[in-house]
Amino acid sequence: MPSIMSAITAASGRDFTATETTPARSSPVNLRMVRSTPTMRGGQRKPGATNPSRRDSAASARATAANSAVLRAGSCVCIEPIIIARGCDEVASCDSRTPARYSCRTVTTPVEAPLNPMQQAVVDALGKSPDWSPLPRTVVETVRTHLHDELADIAPRFSRDKPLWISKRRLSTIHGCETHHVATKDSFEWTTSTARGTVLHKAVELGVHWKGESTPADIVDEAIARLADSNNSIADFLVTLTPGDGAQLRSYAVDLYTRFEECFPKLKRTWRPVSESSARYELFDGAIVLGTKADLTLGLADQKVIIDVKSGGLHITHREDLRFYALVEALRSGMAPRRLATYSLAAARADVEDVSEGVLQAAVRRVVDGVRAIVAVEFDGREANKRPAVHCRWCPLNDTCAEGVAYLSRDADDNIDEV
Ligand code: SF4
Repeated sequence: MPSIMSAITAASGRDFTATETTPARSSPVNLRMVRSTPTMRGGQRKPGATNPSRRDSAASARATAANSAVLRAGSCVCIEPIIIARGCDEVASCDSRTPARYSCRTVTTPVEAPLNPMQQAVVDALGKSPDWSPLPRTVVETVRTHLHDELADIAPRFSRDKPLWISKRRLSTIHGCETHHVATKDSFEWTTSTARGTVLHKAVELGVHWKGESTPADIVDEAIARLADSNNSIADFLVTLTPGDGAQLRSYAVDLYTRFEECFPKLKRTWRPVSESSARYELFDGAIVLGTKADLTLGLADQKVIIDVKSGGLHITHREDLRFYALVEALRSGMAPRRLATYSLAAARADVEDVSEGVLQAAVRRVVDGVRAIVAVEFDGREANKRPAVHCRWCPLNDTCAEGVAYLSRDADDNIDEV
């Protein structure tokens, strides 16, 4: 039978009260009885029983009764599953282990730390105004019809078995520099710089649900460990990191997560935070697929806020990325999100845009233009153009491309990073 002892109780066993049938804790023959006879209510006897002779005879039955007691007490925000950990993450001072703890049912409003100015700015930027109303669902259907009409002539070239996959990255590169797009479409490589964003997003996911006290380093270490143990393509990169690269990645990620904690208010469960939230919309029976993965979403489906977190500065293309996310979410759910926000950890500032019919139609035009350009340069042999800009910095051709070399030679210091 698995142990029901927690790390707190494992060292010495639970406190117990001697009864007629558990005479002495120090007696070796009674050790099993000691561990399974807590002073707390629930695990000791059948629920409601007062006579020791009516105690459940099997340890598993007593463990079940203990859990039942916790569930019954679940209306109290102060009570955690007592077989897991001591203390309480709602009331910092609570570490009661006595029956008196049940009197803390009266604690219903945990004291929250006041928001710092950066956190207050996030709340102000993302909050819902009293006069906000959702976009009519007929708007979403109009947008859906428009998108299908615009892509109807291209769709027959693809199929569910060989679909055309459109992501934020593909749209961004094809609209940036087509030559860069072609050069990098199959060449993504994990580095400590590209991995830090993924680690940050995993850390945010864990931080939302983390119980009790933690430090950014704790959460980042856990995030790296879980990614290394996942089916994600980053796993192979993480398990082969040198100690130096591992330390560098941890340093990057701790820096980013620390700033995230400083800038964002503690995400409440009632806000329905979801990190690394994937969404997809299939057109023409799966011949064309639009796919997204949002860093963070908050709120119910009909009033969702979609947030992209950037380590560096803000750029106009970030707004275009989020419009694509809004389009996919609207087409997938039939309900338009409420607001889009790109948050710069470096600037501690959010670029915010409400979702309107104009925003969704702009996203449709960008998707249609992007799909046509991708088909032209990847499948029809049209020569790819060159558009030197900030993306020249991370283009693999930037030491041979004349336009890129010229651009970078006059490029001023710019802290744009992609996370
Ligand atoms: S260096 Fe710049 S202009 Fe040249 S291909 Fe790369 S992104 Fe395009």
